[in-house]
Amino acid sequence: MNHEQLKADNAQFLWHPMAHPGAMKKSTPDIIAKGEGCWIWDVDGHKMLDGVGGLWACNLGHSNKPVRDAIVAQMDELPFYNVFRGTTHVRAIELSKRLVQMMQPEDVATVMFSNGGSDAVEGALKVARQYWKLKGQADRFKFISLRQGYHGVHFGGMSVNGNTNFRRAYEPLLPGCFHIDTPWAYHNPYTDDPIRLGEICAELLEREIVFQGPDTVAAFIAEPVQGAGGVIVPPPNYWPLVRQICDKYGVLLIADEVVTGFGRSGELFGTRLWGVNADMWCLAKGISSGYIPLGATAINRRIADVFDADTTGTASVSHGYTYSAHPIAAAAALATLDQIEALDIPGNAARVGAHLQTRLRKLVDTCSFVGDVRGVGLMLGIEMVSDKAQRTPMTRTSDIPARVAKAAYKAGLMVRISGPNLILSPPLVITREEVDFMCDVLEGAFAAVQEGRA
Ligand code: PMP
Repeated sequence: MNHEQLKADNAQFLWHPMAHPGAMKKSTPDIIAKGEGCWIWDVDGHKMLDGVGGLWACNLGHSNKPVRDAIVAQMDELPFYNVFRGTTHVRAIELSKRLVQMMQPEDVATVMFSNGGSDAVEGALKVARQYWKLKGQADRFKFISLRQGYHGVHFGGMSVNGNTNFRRAYEPLLPGCFHIDTPWAYHNPYTDDPIRLGEICAELLEREIVFQGPDTVAAFIAEPVQGAGGVIVPPPNYWPLVRQICDKYGVLLIADEVVTGFGRSGELFGTRLWGVNADMWCLAKGISSGYIPLGATAINRRIADVFDADTTGTASVSHGYTYSAHPIAAAAALATLDQIEALDIPGNAARVGAHLQTRLRKLVDTCSFVGDVRGVGLMLGIEMVSDKAQRTPMTRTSDIPARVAKAAYKAGLMVRISGPNLILSPPLVITREEVDFMCDVLEGAFAAVQEGRA
């Protein structure tokens, strides 16, 4: 098909997530046509390194053969069956066992499947409320979460989201959701000392729990490292303190690992970075390398035991989707988990990620409008500022972030712009040489924009 026609059809027929339909009619998004390894090609044949990883998802790159073969084989064997009460299928059983075995340091007892990250969050929030009802504490229905946090787009996840942009148009949201400050070293009114910041922000959680009444709080939900909010890495003492506070007041801790899960942070799960266990983990994206939609809510022994022990029937899980544990997705995930182990994906993310972080942090010194470069493993955010001394993030009126992204695109690197942040989340199979290529392109793009050449 001719490319102009494709662009016109896109404008006419497709509403894009997180985009203004009118604006999308005027400027065509990049049309991606092909992928291989860490590389993608747009419809005009322009080759780029995929700095976005699909969308924090294609951790094994775009052409992993074992995952592709598993999908095809499953298609031939059984393309679909459900796992609603009364039936199940082989891949669902295998995948649940595999995940639970993988998450033994986490004391995971069972998993509940769904179609993606928003679903995984919704499942966790619902299980949290049901858990407290089963425990005879129906008043414990409130959720506490972090500003800048992102937990998907369903009503529950939206209600615990910490960014107005994802909430405003759909209010009123779920009652009983409260937000506290994120331990964000670069933007906070408290302190420049990261450890003190971790303490202060953990105290904010405790104060909120006490203020609400501990016997009304069901759970605290957060990302081990905030992704969409701008790749915000908490200080090392934050999560351990959060775990202590949750334990003190009996509050459940939900780790939203949709981005951090399966190796992106350099650990298999983000909670391992901080040496703490959650009570539930929300998983998606990397679980199937993004090849097929799949979400999972991993549930620990503490919660599962309460459901198992119920004899009244109220523990029935009145939740689930037609496509929960879809056989093709489950087959893709099983092959993905094999690959994660065989290729030591977390190890690679840690090693080449450290190189990426070191190289790009220098942009703070070399570029007049880069305020902060932060991240861990293979997730990295570059915050662009209009005033470096005041740490003022660039607003939507500035064309600079888009110019940087365009210059990178031209030079062969796909990046993602989210507000003032340029975000990198490349496939986790990326090599050191490919990381160097990404850094070379970005250094060039920032310099070109600074010097008015792009
Ligand atoms: N939680 C987190 C932490 C996420 O980053 C995302 C998506 N980026 C979601 C939930 C929602 O996932 P999905 O888009 O698959 O519904």
